[in-house]
Amino acid sequence: MALLEGRNLRKTYRLGRHNLVEALRGVDVTIEPGEMVAIIGPSGSGKSTLMHIVGLLHAPDKGDPAPELRFDGRDMTGLDEGERTRIRAHEMGFVFQDFNLVPTLTAMENVMLACDYAGVRGEAARAAARDALELVGLGDRAGHRPSELSGGEQQRVALARALVNKPRLVLADEPTGNLDSERSADVLATLRRFNQEHGQTFVLVTHDPEVAEACDRVIRVRDGRIREAPAAAAGPVATPAAADPAAPAATGVPVASAPTPGASPEPDHGGAGAPS
Ligand code: ADP
Repeated sequence: MALLEGRNLRKTYRLGRHNLVEALRGVDVTIEPGEMVAIIGPSGSGKSTLMHIVGLLHAPDKGDPAPELRFDGRDMTGLDEGERTRIRAHEMGFVFQDFNLVPTLTAMENVMLACDYAGVRGEAARAAARDALELVGLGDRAGHRPSELSGGEQQRVALARALVNKPRLVLADEPTGNLDSERSADVLATLRRFNQEHGQTFVLVTHDPEVAEACDRVIRVRDGRIREAPAAAAGPVATPAAADPAAPAATGVPVASAPTPGASPEPDHGGAGAPS
């Protein structure tokens, strides 16, 4: 059974009454347990939106055909916010592009926050956070606040926070975006180790060809659509499926049109409710 299965995933952002951005235009995606998958594509193509939907941070637009989203065989489309938050906290880990670290908390406390969301507290949380920080090479920075850390170090704190509960699924937006190539290779090796030792599934949104190459499979997003060969046919880098000549050159350009049914007016609130 697939770990994640999405069908007919659409997301339209409404910027004004007649100003819509079709960030996702009907996407099907399947992620198998234990896979390490890269989502690549040009800036503005819908990668983060897709990650936020499969990570239960945002709901897909309703509409016809109806969106389907299953995590571990469970239907996610009818859950209320509390249930989504619980699944995120217990079964998913997130690395956001802007890290979402709490500025007033130390690295250790930031990581422990994810433990707290998952119901792990006290010494157990402290020990798990210490281990996670050591894994990303930041054992000696546990007492530092984000402002006392470099961008790359903050990113690794965010990674430690995503890994600390050993979630089944880790979703990361540009997890090596602020790292030099040596650190980036270290982080990839850490992810791969977690992937192999704990059977964790990783979905990495990335611009970095080295990240994509290190993954088992690549999902290409363009203009809010997926261009992908079926998983079985895909080597390390999937060949794009038939190009869609009807697709506009770039998504993300606001589309002037009347509001469509099911378009979501919700703002992008990033990590709301996530262990951030
Ligand atoms: P990527 O991650 O590939 O850069 P995104 O998923 O972030 O792409 O964005 C896809 C498109 O949706 C972009 O044009 C972006 O500007 C737009 N978009 C994303 N979030 C919002 C939002 N909250 N409100 C309006 N437009 C948005």
